[in-house]
Amino acid sequence: MSSDSRRPGVLQDATFPQIRDKRWPVALLPFGATEPHNTHLPYGTDTILGSEVAARVAAACIAHGTNVVALPAMPFGVNTTQLDLPLTINVMPSTQLAVLRDVVKSLEPHGVRGLVLLNAHGGNELRALVRELQPATPIMLAIVNWWQTADATVFSVPGDHAGELETAAVMHVAPQLVVADRATWGDGRTNPSTLDGVRTGVAWMPRRWTQATKDTGVGDPRAATAERGAVFMTQAVERIAAFCCELAVADPARLWENPDR
Ligand SMILES: [Zn+2]
Repeated sequence: MSSDSRRPGVLQDATFPQIRDKRWPVALLPFGATEPHNTHLPYGTDTILGSEVAARVAAACIAHGTNVVALPAMPFGVNTTQLDLPLTINVMPSTQLAVLRDVVKSLEPHGVRGLVLLNAHGGNELRALVRELQPATPIMLAIVNWWQTADATVFSVPGDHAGELETAAVMHVAPQLVVADRATWGDGRTNPSTLDGVRTGVAWMPRRWTQATKDTGVGDPRAATAERGAVFMTQAVERIAAFCCELAVADPARLWENPDR
């Protein structure tokens, strides 16, 4: 007796015939990170969330008749200003570019029309990568920051890193990885910059994590609930899935309206 519980469209789970015998017009590539997330969430938070959103988006699209494949997540992100935090693993933007170029080249011969970079980590600034790669590939490249796709007013203060939004999302998808005793969670308070220009938004500088935070969190996680995480992620998945279905049939020569045509 065997039961097949593999997730539809998740490449890590799929067999050769399952992939070979269909067309896959859209692929999702989650971008995660390996870094501390306050005192209560796992190092793999971004990778876990990106992978889960990708799997749910693939399932939703397949249920609607569009084959979308979720690729394995990139487990390391850009963490150049967190290297003094133990076992944070950084990959340089230039390394991400090299890896992404190879992934795109691998997908090109196999009918993939669109590749969605499904980002789950703020330090991964993927636009420069797409700007560099797009002219060199027929695959339509798009970026989705999953945490920006749904209505964050469901949270009191969504937060930025291991705050209420991310905590609620992990409570929803992997509750066994959230420290149960809420009293031990850091408050995610951040120290303001000592430079006026940075505080007022005239200038941006990357946060030196150990100067800016005490517990590595940015945003108070303590109001998080799994229910709100579920609401937020469900909406995010719906919206990202709708976009993937659009992209599957999009005409790369007509991605913008031309009123003169
Ligand atoms: Zn995170």
